[in-house]
Amino acid sequence: MTASTETPASSFRAAERLGRIKPSPSTAAAARVRELKGQGRSILDLTVGEPDFDTPAHIKQAAIAAIEAGETKYTPVNGTPRLRQAIRGALQRTHGIEYSDAEITVGGGGKQVIFLALMATVDAGDEVLIPAPYWVSYPDMVRANEGTPVIVPTSAENGYKVTAAQLEASITDRTTWLILNSPGNPSGAIHTEEELSALAEVLRRHPAVSVLSDEIYSEISFTGTPAPSLAAVAPDLRHRVLVVSGVSKSYAMTGWRLGYAAGDPALVGAINTLQSQTSSCPSSISQAAAAAALEGPQDFIAESVPVYRERRDVAVAGLRAIDGLTPLVPDGAFYLYVDCAGLIGRTSPEGKVLADDQDVTFYLLDQAGVAVIQGSAYGSSPFFRISFATDLGTITAAVEKIAEAVAALR
Ligand code: PMP
Repeated sequence: MTASTETPASSFRAAERLGRIKPSPSTAAAARVRELKGQGRSILDLTVGEPDFDTPAHIKQAAIAAIEAGETKYTPVNGTPRLRQAIRGALQRTHGIEYSDAEITVGGGGKQVIFLALMATVDAGDEVLIPAPYWVSYPDMVRANEGTPVIVPTSAENGYKVTAAQLEASITDRTTWLILNSPGNPSGAIHTEEELSALAEVLRRHPAVSVLSDEIYSEISFTGTPAPSLAAVAPDLRHRVLVVSGVSKSYAMTGWRLGYAAGDPALVGAINTLQSQTSSCPSSISQAAAAAALEGPQDFIAESVPVYRERRDVAVAGLRAIDGLTPLVPDGAFYLYVDCAGLIGRTSPEGKVLADDQDVTFYLLDQAGVAVIQGSAYGSSPFFRISFATDLGTITAAVEKIAEAVAALR
């Protein structure tokens, strides 16, 4: 009997959980760019959420040395002692906080650590406050864990940051978490120490609410100092703040998949239990590299931040000159969130009326060959996000193309 080469009909049946979430829009945008490039179109890609720089040489060397030294086995669930020590050193350096070893855990990227933290704490119907615009993954991660994302819209007058009054008004007896992301993706907004203190005042009145402080961009700051952390500003709340960070953005290590968290040892222990039953631990080699990144010379950050700042300034100046677009000037991270309300209702040369920011995004892709991500993906419209984690030539060319495409609208 010969084996059939026909593909059998799929009997796949998705769990109900899967119906609550959608694939990440940034991953979807990247796929669309790849498809168009595959068709031979030249696309200026401003969707990418990762540094265009290579991982610094001393970090790569540390990984190679780890392989050669046989550090190729499972590690403790919460990471190697050396990496935990390096993380404690980094948190001390950036925020002046002394964490104990039991307060630290590591995972396969900040993304995985956030997911596990939610899985460890959120029951069906628990509410998680997510200020908008937000990083695309938060609401779906909450939904995947049966929680209810409660979106708190922010406004231009408050620099797209959640205020103490908004926080107070949003808390219910089901509120489990506030997710705070500073510097924010996509806004680049940084909460000042005063703003964090005002949020802390509210949190002191609501002891059941914890804060997931996503600080993955904390060192990509244009203010001269790393973005402040709520855990440092309000030390009395430290056990209610889970600081999440990683090496992806600061050290151009997105592919190494290494993130970490610091917080209440009981929560950290719960995350470790989940990790022990999912991935066991992140890659031993990536852990060695991350330790070298956090312990070693910090020149890469000192050198890359001014490069990002120059790109930001060029992009902001170019976009400001375009009638209908208002870029927010970000204090950190490597994104520009552009208000495109002035383009809504205008008509393309093909006669299509741009009804929302999704239409604007498609128009820029078709007309200008520039890929950006629509604000609706981040829970606020009409906006689009551009990433300036790409070279200045691409940014300048893209801004010119956007200007031409906008000028062609009626
Ligand atoms: N938080 C935010 C706000 C992000 O933008 C990202 C990456 N896009 C992450 C967390 C996760 O980064 P990683 O998993 O690479 O550490």
